[in-house]
Amino acid sequence: MAPPDPPDPPDPPEPPEPPEPPEPGLRYLSTRGAAPRLSFGDVLLEGLARDGGLYVPESVPRLTAAAGSAYARVAEAAIAPYVTPDVARRDLARAIDEAYASFDHPDVCPIVRLEDGLYVQELFHGPTLAFKDVALQLVGRLMDAELERRDDRRTIVVATSGDTGSAAIAACVGRDRLDIVVLHPAGRTSDVQRRQMTTVDAPNVHNVAVEGTFDDCQDLVKALFADEEFRDEQRLGAMNSINWGRVVAQIPYYVSAAREVAPAGEAVAFAVPSGNFGNVLAGWYARAMGLAVRRLVIGSNRNDILARWVSTGALVAEDVVPTLSPSMDIQVSSNHERLVFELLGRDGGRTADLMARFRGLGSAEAPRSDVFLAARLDDDETLAEIRLAHERWGYLADPHTAIGIGAARRLRESGSLDPDVSVVCLATAHPAKFPDAVRRATGISPPRPERLDELFDRPERYDVVPADLRAVQDRVRSAAAAAR
Ligand SMILES: *Cc1c(COP(=O)(O)O)cnc(C)c1O
Repeated sequence: MAPPDPPDPPDPPEPPEPPEPPEPGLRYLSTRGAAPRLSFGDVLLEGLARDGGLYVPESVPRLTAAAGSAYARVAEAAIAPYVTPDVARRDLARAIDEAYASFDHPDVCPIVRLEDGLYVQELFHGPTLAFKDVALQLVGRLMDAELERRDDRRTIVVATSGDTGSAAIAACVGRDRLDIVVLHPAGRTSDVQRRQMTTVDAPNVHNVAVEGTFDDCQDLVKALFADEEFRDEQRLGAMNSINWGRVVAQIPYYVSAAREVAPAGEAVAFAVPSGNFGNVLAGWYARAMGLAVRRLVIGSNRNDILARWVSTGALVAEDVVPTLSPSMDIQVSSNHERLVFELLGRDGGRTADLMARFRGLGSAEAPRSDVFLAARLDDDETLAEIRLAHERWGYLADPHTAIGIGAARRLRESGSLDPDVSVVCLATAHPAKFPDAVRRATGISPPRPERLDELFDRPERYDVVPADLRAVQDRVRSAAAAAR
């Protein structure tokens, strides 16, 4: 008898499930192509890239549906793909809810209709009454959480022409892992703007008045970061609009505005009073994510480097002149480098060359995109626009906002902007932040919101320092030492 067949060998054991590969997540690369790729958490804390460039996402995610139309949910859906997996979805949702709970309007960034097809979106309902709160209230919380996870801390150094400083301070008050040193140009901010910074009484807040312009302040901050030894030793962090966290946190209001004024998905245009190019750049990324944005209108004051770039293709820096819209008194719009990089086909070498030429010669040919239109208003035109907005629509606009409205109106009248496309003008500051200009234009003193009432009773605290790197380094050192 033949021996029985040997029994079938047992099935091989199931191979163990391979461990879940870590969710890849979006990485970020430098516009100058020579810095390591980083995750969102790293980029948030690094600010400027080590090769002098700015971080951009290595690809632009598509917009996804939000869980409802509330601003916080729209923001969550727009921001999540940029921060995964460093920030868990639940933590992101909580940070967003907390950040916008401090806003004094239930819609967070409400839309006001001026006339058919022309709207204002008010971005000034946060604690310092300017649009920078929209980004910084969130960025401060995300940074603090990231530092908590790493058991680390940062001294935030910020250059401000007015609004960034107070918004960054408001973002740092109560954050355990952050100290902040703010450089503002002495005598070149409005009274309200300065007091919003210098009357904050918190041990981790330090104000420095630099004897120079905003561009000097910005150059000093860049120089602080360029000194790697100092930067590491002092654990410097940035909240200026060069920080990608700021840009990404500004994408949602473009999305929420477009959904509200064009619910069927028709194309819309935005008019954006611009300085450092951070706000309008967020609109460009919203468009790259798939939002139907036909045009982005740049409004400039007499410091019109961006308007000249749109009309000539050349970036030519001129001297900064003070205007009624001080938050736009800028001739080197840092965030523009991100757009240059995108328009050069994401070529870091060419971007680095272009920026070196611009830095060295004060001018460079730069690529253009016909998504952008621009118009420039001088101070008289700005006042006339404030008056017109009040007479025609009963709307009180601050000088920055008026420049955006004026730019949109001019481009519509000249036919450059299709009259069938709705325009949303971003209102970047509350009129009560610039009461003198509003009064000169309209004869009306804008009602002062409660948030500003106490500013004039509280003592101011700040040091005056020359526009000199050594002096500023000493001040940063002592600020950080005091807090520890
Ligand atoms: C910062 C600021 C601007 C300019 O925004 P950018 O992102 O720098 O272009 C315009 N208006 C107000 C009130 C601001 O505070």
